[in-house]
Amino acid sequence: MRAPPLIGISAGSEPGTGLLSLPLYAISQTYVRATCDAGGLPLLLPPALDDGDVQRLLERLDGLLLSGGGDVAAEWYGGVDSPLIKKVDRERDRAELALARRALQTGKPVLAICRGIQVLNVAAGGTLYVDIPTQVPGALLHLPEAGQPLDASAHMVQLAPGSQVAAILGVESATVNSFHHQAAREVGVGLVVTARAPDGVVEGLERPDHPFCVGVQWHPEIEIGNQGGMGRLFQALVRAAGG
Ligand code: MN
Repeated sequence: MRAPPLIGISAGSEPGTGLLSLPLYAISQTYVRATCDAGGLPLLLPPALDDGDVQRLLERLDGLLLSGGGDVAAEWYGGVDSPLIKKVDRERDRAELALARRALQTGKPVLAICRGIQVLNVAAGGTLYVDIPTQVPGALLHLPEAGQPLDASAHMVQLAPGSQVAAILGVESATVNSFHHQAAREVGVGLVVTARAPDGVVEGLERPDHPFCVGVQWHPEIEIGNQGGMGRLFQALVRAAGG
């Protein structure tokens, strides 16, 4: 039996709790469970990584999962800082952008989720909407309605025919959850839009000439509970990573 592929999952920083209250590197358990359930061997990647660490880590990893989190700082894509940009973590930005660039260069399989798709776009030279409600006229609500569970559907996405995401999910459109106020604006070099919300907001990106480079703006790892098909995105990553 083949060894399960090693999937690096990028983690962020959280304030410490309890007696010591030292800051933590952390990520939602949902990403780890979804990776394990798909047959991957998960390895959490702290953001305390320099470029050499990133290179050495990616040589050993079979695949990369860029996870969700706070906003990417505008300086990375030549944008202007704004009070609308929230929960910036430059250490995490730096590490994840380096991981994404390296994965793009080397053909390492990468699945990018929520913040991850934004990191992927910026790594490829793209830009972001700093705040959808103030920058996209007629935008839908890309956050859950008050009182709704995390896996509740927030809006539709139309998937591009022939895209990997459409092939993986086996549908032309899907209802997805939504926890973001930023999104890809100018699309990075080599990436193509593979999913859009009805308001035009980019919900999916791929790089067609890469073995597996798939980004989604929604959270499939949370939706697995009520839309089992979303687990196929993780299975596809693991398969591309040699599983
Ligand atoms: Mn959305």
